[in-house]
Amino acid sequence: MSVHPTPSGWSEVSFEDRMALVDFRLSSRAHITVDGDACRGCTTKACVTACPANLFVPVSDGSIVFNYEQCFECGTCYLVCDESGAITWTYPDGGHGVVFHKS
Ligand code: SF4
Ligand code: SF4
Repeated sequence: MSVHPTPSGWSEVSFEDRMALVDFRLSSRAHITVDGDACRGCTTKACVTACPANLFVPVSDGSIVFNYEQCFECGTCYLVCDESGAITWTYPDGGHGVVFHKS
């Protein structure tokens, strides 16, 4: 795994290396949904930079396109979202979701 020094001194793990540490057992039910209409008035779009899996994509009309399939289930998007009701967050159904490898 390659690491990159940062000004803070913390090592940054590349996106590719991050994704190599996990598998996803896909569920047909989306455990997170995003109301793109609610996102149009959002000035921060904090989810876009905060999601470690890069699952939030801003589009030209101000809304967001979201895909739940490679979600780490970290909850960061729900914490940083400043628009009440924009994100509906649950865990995946049993036996589904992210599987973390040891290394
Ligand atoms: S932070 Fe919340 S309201 Fe803003 S774009 Fe992301 S999901 Fe939408
Ligand atoms: S729970 Fe984490 S990985 Fe999943 S969409 Fe939210 S920020 Fe991204």
